[in-house]
Amino acid sequence: MKFAITSKGDSRSNTLMHKMRTYLLDFDLEYDEDQPDICISVGGDGTLLYAFHRYSSRLDKTAFIGVHTGHLGFYADWVPEEIEKLVIAVAKTPYQVIEYPLLEVIIRYQHGGRETRYLALNESTVKSVEGTLVMDVEIRGQHFERFRGDGLCVSTPSGSTAYNKALGGAILHPSLRAIQVAEMASINNRVFRTVGSPLILPDHHTCTLKPVNRPDFQVTVDHLTLLHKDVKSIQFRVADEKIRFARFRPFPFWKRVHDSFISDSD
Ligand code: NAD
Repeated sequence: MKFAITSKGDSRSNTLMHKMRTYLLDFDLEYDEDQPDICISVGGDGTLLYAFHRYSSRLDKTAFIGVHTGHLGFYADWVPEEIEKLVIAVAKTPYQVIEYPLLEVIIRYQHGGRETRYLALNESTVKSVEGTLVMDVEIRGQHFERFRGDGLCVSTPSGSTAYNKALGGAILHPSLRAIQVAEMASINNRVFRTVGSPLILPDHHTCTLKPVNRPDFQVTVDHLTLLHKDVKSIQFRVADEKIRFARFRPFPFWKRVHDSFISDSD
């Protein structure tokens, strides 16, 4: 089996990365940074987001494991004290694979029929470059509303505990193939109106945003922020691809939610 390890880059994560690499090589596993069967991310959720984007073109071949060197992460759920156990499990045990849905983002431009496609593990957000974001929101090709406000956030189920949660969105179990659209400070008064609630769309529904005036937007995909000019539309849907996590022990999603947001002492 071939493995790769990505580190957050701080000294604690780097030390742990080197230790795990040595252990795994001792078990005769092969280190392959380009085509790993397993990618171990050491750091936090941000490190796993980085690893996901690095290997996003081979999601059917690379499974992920997250070790956290700070506080408990949603994706990084192994603690440094467990790495010996983890290394033995990786080397000796056939692992179970857990799949989570991803978000597909397709940005189409006004000229030349160009488009770019991204996959997000957490979410994609759209904001204006300057001033209020004004966009028409279509669901399944039908006009739904004209949104005015700070922006819109479209998240995956596993990303629903991240930015989406801070916006008042619901937490979705990752076994649901769905995406969630949450508003950022919409303008609602006698003139302007939005639905005001987060929307949860199933995997056969698309949400498309179309510019009303200015066609330039700041679009985030997880930790990446990109400026897109001359945009014709931004389309969101559940991606065909999935992220695969190698699981060696049960750590149910709701327990992770509890331990992260309520308390990890009981
Ligand atoms: P960062 O270092 O600012 O991390 C933000 C925090 O989000 C970290 O504590 C991380 O553990 C947590 N996080 C990431 N994914 C999570 C998930 N799926 N569930 C629960 N918590 C999660 O930024 P980064 O490391 O580059 O991560 C980018 C992410 O930051 C984005 O995908 C977005 O979800 C999040 N973010 C959140 C807010 C907010 O809550 N207001 C604002 C901007 C970005």
